[in-house]
Amino acid sequence: MRKLPFDKNWIEKTAEKWPTPFHVYDAAAIRANARRLKAAFAWNEGFREYFAVKAAPNPHLMKLLKEFGFGSDCSSMAELVLAEKVGNTGELIMFTSNDTPAEEFRKAWELGAIVNLDDISHWPYFVEAVGGGSSGAPASRHVEFGNALFCCRYNPGPLKGGNAIIGKPEEAKYGMTREQLFDCYAQMKAAGVKRFGLHTMVASNELDPEYIIDTAKLLFQLAGEIHEKVGIDFEFVNIGGGIGIPYRPDQKAMDLERVGAGIHAAYDELVVAKGLKPIRLYMECGRCITGPYGYLVAKVRHIKDTYRKYVGLDACMSNLMRPALYGAYHEIVVPGKENEPQTEVYDVTGSLCENNDKFAIQRPLPHIVPGDYVVICDAGAHGHAMGFQYNGKLRSAELLLEEDGSVRQIRRAETLDDYFATLDFEGL
Ligand SMILES: *Cc1c(COP(=O)(O)O)cnc(C)c1O
Repeated sequence: MRKLPFDKNWIEKTAEKWPTPFHVYDAAAIRANARRLKAAFAWNEGFREYFAVKAAPNPHLMKLLKEFGFGSDCSSMAELVLAEKVGNTGELIMFTSNDTPAEEFRKAWELGAIVNLDDISHWPYFVEAVGGGSSGAPASRHVEFGNALFCCRYNPGPLKGGNAIIGKPEEAKYGMTREQLFDCYAQMKAAGVKRFGLHTMVASNELDPEYIIDTAKLLFQLAGEIHEKVGIDFEFVNIGGGIGIPYRPDQKAMDLERVGAGIHAAYDELVVAKGLKPIRLYMECGRCITGPYGYLVAKVRHIKDTYRKYVGLDACMSNLMRPALYGAYHEIVVPGKENEPQTEVYDVTGSLCENNDKFAIQRPLPHIVPGDYVVICDAGAHGHAMGFQYNGKLRSAELLLEEDGSVRQIRRAETLDDYFATLDFEGL
């Protein structure tokens, strides 16, 4: 049974002020994990984690991560604005987008972000978007690319096997082929770009350290080949996000120290020994940064006994989509009943009119009664963030459990007024 950073008394007290359901994040645990990640890569001068904002787009969490120098990995206008609000501008932003609108390229450029191109056609599109002129069109103003740091996203295709969530790279919409990559860097060099990085992301929720190490190897190798052929140096390689977390009790957390040491060895072999200039290692993880340290706290509304036994919560899939979306497993704890035998088998559901609105299916749990609290673990990334309002369900509050034990609201719960805010009742 998972150990929680709070107990039933704490939930009862907290729920007086912030009724369930709510998400709560454990600040001390997030900080300890951030420290551990940094230590694992301390050998690499300039190492940086760019927190994938989409995993938990809350400025208070982003600010907390900024204490450790973590930047922001953004892929939309809203995420760029969030990064700006927490003071992550310039090269503290990695703009890893796809199918990108011109105004987002402009915003990223204005913020001085590292622009990571998803496609070879995005280079002329970007140049046009920021007013540099392209395809023979006259430049509306002179744009100097020399000081800016640009990156391309590589899709290794069948060279690298994928995994469950991200699928096979050759079927993924992201990134450029090898040929396009060389071509794109040559085009950028010809346009006066002087600073380069290289990116790929081929993992999602990966728990095997060797897979992440192999990704870094692939990039170091490729950086060397592009250096030779195109005549450019790389300041960084970005191995993307995708480090997994142990959602299931039988899974083991990623051995970050092993990943750090493995990439260090690859660096010595493929960068240092090859005489390449120093390369900073970047990553843009979301899940492993906040995932295990966020909890969805809900209260049992009804117990139903038909063909199966159902625990009906006051939370639903709009608070946490992963089980409904991917059949994902999330551990469930019933505070106050941690030591009771798991004598029942329940489907744990929400109130949405979708039969896949279930947090757990046929899960052994202690005997549950209405009024019990239920805590759904590992909700700290891709949890609240994926929330939606289908069926008129409102998104819950987000709370931060501070290191001194105090609680701070970092996002209020939505109200019906929020839900109706975009409607015009006057025009009826
Ligand atoms: C989703 C995403 C991430 C973060 O992935 P995690 O699995 O949360 O680590 C990083 N980079 C890009 C480009 C992404 O799309």
